[in-house]
Amino acid sequence: MTDWLEQDYDPQSRFDELKNVEPEFWKKKKLEQMSKTEWELLCDGCGKCCLNKLDIRGKVKFTNTHCRFLDCRTCLCKIYEHRFEKVEDCRDITLEAVREQPRWLPKTCAYWLLDNGFELPDWHPLITGRAASVHEAGMSLQNRKLVSESGVSDFEDYIVEWEDL
Ligand code: SF4
Ligand code: SF4
Repeated sequence: MTDWLEQDYDPQSRFDELKNVEPEFWKKKKLEQMSKTEWELLCDGCGKCCLNKLDIRGKVKFTNTHCRFLDCRTCLCKIYEHRFEKVEDCRDITLEAVREQPRWLPKTCAYWLLDNGFELPDWHPLITGRAASVHEAGMSLQNRKLVSESGVSDFEDYIVEWEDL
Protein backbone atom coordinates (compact mmCIF):
# COMPACT_ATOMS: atom_id res chain seq x y z
CA MET A 1 0.00 0.00 0.00
CA THR A 2 2.87 2.38 0.68
CA ASP A 3 3.98 2.46 -2.99
CA TRP A 4 1.60 5.29 -3.68
CA LEU A 5 2.34 7.36 -0.60
CA GLU A 6 3.90 10.62 -1.73
CA GLN A 7 6.41 11.92 0.78
CA ASP A 8 8.99 13.99 -1.02
CA TYR A 9 6.90 16.88 -2.25
CA ASP A 10 8.21 20.31 -1.30
CA PRO A 11 5.27 22.73 -1.11
CA GLN A 12 7.56 25.66 -1.85
CA SER A 13 8.28 24.17 -5.28
CA ARG A 14 4.82 25.26 -6.44
CA PHE A 15 6.03 28.81 -6.63
CA ASP A 16 8.35 27.91 -9.52
CA GLU A 17 5.14 28.12 -11.56
CA LEU A 18 4.75 31.83 -10.81
CA LYS A 19 6.98 32.61 -13.79
CA ASN A 20 4.36 30.96 -16.03
CA VAL A 21 1.39 33.03 -14.88
CA GLU A 22 0.33 36.65 -15.05
CA PRO A 23 1.59 38.65 -12.04
CA GLU A 24 -1.12 39.02 -9.39
CA PHE A 25 -3.54 37.07 -11.59
CA TRP A 26 -5.88 36.62 -8.62
CA LYS A 27 -6.61 40.37 -8.64
CA LYS A 28 -7.30 40.48 -12.37
CA LYS A 29 -9.18 37.32 -13.25
CA LYS A 30 -12.35 35.63 -12.16
CA LEU A 31 -12.04 32.02 -11.13
CA GLU A 32 -13.54 30.86 -14.40
CA GLN A 33 -10.86 32.75 -16.36
CA MET A 34 -7.90 31.21 -14.59
CA SER A 35 -5.55 28.71 -16.16
CA LYS A 36 -5.06 25.34 -14.50
CA THR A 37 -1.70 26.53 -13.15
CA GLU A 38 -3.21 29.68 -11.70
CA TRP A 39 -6.08 27.70 -10.20
CA GLU A 40 -3.72 25.32 -8.47
CA LEU A 41 -1.55 28.13 -7.14
CA LEU A 42 -4.58 29.57 -5.36
CA CYS A 43 -4.79 26.71 -2.89
CA ASP A 44 -3.17 27.86 0.36
CA GLY A 45 -2.45 24.31 1.57
CA CYS A 46 -4.48 24.64 4.77
CA GLY A 47 -5.79 21.07 4.61
CA LYS A 48 -9.16 22.08 6.06
CA CYS A 49 -11.11 20.68 3.11
CA CYS A 50 -9.86 17.24 4.21
CA LEU A 51 -11.76 17.36 7.49
CA ASN A 52 -14.83 15.17 7.65
CA LYS A 53 -18.08 17.07 7.55
CA LEU A 54 -21.68 16.31 8.37
CA ASP A 55 -24.84 17.70 6.85
CA ILE A 56 -27.12 18.45 9.74
CA ARG A 57 -30.51 19.80 8.75
CA GLY A 58 -29.06 21.43 5.62
CA LYS A 59 -26.03 22.96 7.36
CA VAL A 60 -22.49 21.72 6.95
CA LYS A 61 -20.82 20.99 10.27
CA PHE A 62 -17.07 20.42 10.32
CA THR A 63 -15.52 17.85 12.61
CA ASN A 64 -11.93 17.62 13.81
CA THR A 65 -11.66 14.18 12.25
CA HIS A 66 -9.60 14.05 9.08
CA CYS A 67 -9.21 11.84 6.07
CA ARG A 68 -6.85 9.01 6.87
CA PHE A 69 -4.57 10.09 4.03
CA LEU A 70 -3.95 13.60 5.31
CA ASP A 71 -0.48 14.25 6.69
CA CYS A 72 -1.34 16.46 9.67
CA ARG A 73 2.22 17.73 9.96
CA THR A 74 2.43 19.12 6.43
CA CYS A 75 -1.35 19.39 5.82
CA LEU A 76 -0.76 17.66 2.49
CA CYS A 77 -2.47 14.67 0.95
CA LYS A 78 -0.29 11.57 1.11
CA ILE A 79 -1.82 10.15 -2.06
CA TYR A 80 -2.48 13.28 -4.10
CA GLU A 81 -2.11 11.71 -7.54
CA HIS A 82 -4.34 8.78 -6.60
CA ARG A 83 -6.79 10.48 -4.27
CA PHE A 84 -9.92 9.98 -6.36
CA GLU A 85 -9.16 6.29 -6.91
CA LYS A 86 -8.53 5.58 -3.26
CA VAL A 87 -11.07 7.76 -1.48
CA GLU A 88 -14.63 7.61 -2.72
CA ASP A 89 -15.72 10.91 -1.17
CA CYS A 90 -12.59 12.93 -1.89
CA ARG A 91 -13.81 16.08 -3.64
CA ASP A 92 -12.15 17.83 -6.55
CA ILE A 93 -11.99 21.59 -6.05
CA THR A 94 -13.92 22.74 -9.11
CA LEU A 95 -15.86 25.93 -9.71
CA GLU A 96 -19.08 24.02 -9.02
CA ALA A 97 -17.67 22.70 -5.76
CA VAL A 98 -16.63 26.20 -4.69
CA ARG A 99 -20.16 27.49 -5.36
CA GLU A 100 -22.00 24.56 -3.84
CA GLN A 101 -24.58 25.35 -1.18
CA PRO A 102 -24.44 24.85 1.68
CA ARG A 103 -20.79 25.93 1.75
CA TRP A 104 -18.50 23.03 2.57
CA LEU A 105 -15.15 24.74 2.06
CA PRO A 106 -13.73 26.68 5.01
CA LYS A 107 -14.35 30.41 4.93
CA THR A 108 -10.58 31.01 4.61
CA CYS A 109 -10.39 28.99 1.41
CA ALA A 110 -8.93 31.19 -1.32
CA TYR A 111 -11.36 29.90 -3.94
CA TRP A 112 -14.37 30.73 -1.82
CA LEU A 113 -12.95 34.11 -0.79
CA LEU A 114 -12.23 35.29 -4.33
CA ASP A 115 -15.50 33.96 -5.69
CA ASN A 116 -17.35 35.92 -3.03
CA GLY A 117 -15.60 39.23 -3.65
CA PHE A 118 -13.02 39.09 -0.87
CA GLU A 119 -9.28 39.60 -1.22
CA LEU A 120 -6.65 37.04 -0.37
CA PRO A 121 -5.61 37.37 3.27
CA ASP A 122 -2.15 38.76 3.99
CA TRP A 123 -0.93 35.35 5.18
CA HIS A 124 -1.79 33.64 1.90
CA PRO A 125 1.29 32.02 0.30
CA LEU A 126 0.72 33.93 -2.94
CA ILE A 127 1.03 37.19 -1.01
CA THR A 128 3.98 36.17 1.16
CA GLY A 129 5.77 34.05 -1.44
CA ARG A 130 6.22 31.35 1.19
CA ALA A 131 4.21 28.13 1.45
CA ALA A 132 4.75 28.04 5.22
CA SER A 133 2.96 31.32 5.90
CA VAL A 134 -0.42 29.56 6.11
CA HIS A 135 0.92 27.50 9.00
CA GLU A 136 2.69 30.40 10.70
CA ALA A 137 -0.57 32.36 10.68
CA GLY A 138 -2.35 29.48 12.41
CA MET A 139 -4.72 29.10 9.48
CA SER A 140 -3.90 25.52 8.55
CA LEU A 141 -4.57 22.29 10.40
CA GLN A 142 -1.01 22.19 11.69
CA ASN A 143 -0.83 21.91 15.50
CA ARG A 144 -4.59 21.50 15.95
CA LYS A 145 -6.26 18.80 17.95
CA LEU A 146 -7.21 16.31 15.25
CA VAL A 147 -8.37 12.72 15.12
CA SER A 148 -7.93 10.35 12.19
CA GLU A 149 -11.25 9.13 10.81
CA SER A 150 -10.07 5.52 11.12
CA GLY A 151 -11.91 4.02 14.04
CA VAL A 152 -14.33 6.93 14.56
CA SER A 153 -17.85 5.58 14.87
CA ASP A 154 -19.98 8.63 15.64
CA PHE A 155 -18.74 11.72 13.82
CA GLU A 156 -21.27 13.89 15.63
CA ASP A 157 -19.10 13.57 18.73
CA TYR A 158 -16.33 15.45 16.93
CA ILE A 159 -18.13 18.56 15.64
CA VAL A 160 -16.03 21.71 16.06
CA GLU A 161 -16.97 25.38 15.74
CA TRP A 162 -13.59 26.84 14.86
CA GLU A 163 -13.83 30.46 13.72
CA ASP A 164 -12.00 29.83 10.47
CA LEU A 165 -14.32 27.08 9.23
S1 SF4 B 1 -9.63 24.53 1.95
FE1 SF4 B 1 -9.20 25.54 0.02
S2 SF4 B 1 -7.23 26.55 0.33
FE2 SF4 B 1 -7.44 25.02 1.97
S3 SF4 B 1 -6.43 23.18 1.19
FE3 SF4 B 1 -8.60 23.03 0.64
S4 SF4 B 1 -8.76 23.89 -1.43
FE4 SF4 B 1 -6.80 24.53 -0.57
S1 SF4 C 1 -7.61 11.73 -0.26
FE1 SF4 C 1 -8.74 13.65 -0.58
S2 SF4 C 1 -9.71 14.08 1.41
FE2 SF4 C 1 -8.07 12.55 1.75
S3 SF4 C 1 -6.28 13.76 2.33
FE3 SF4 C 1 -6.19 13.41 0.11
S4 SF4 C 1 -7.16 15.23 -0.80
FE4 SF4 C 1 -7.73 15.17 1.38
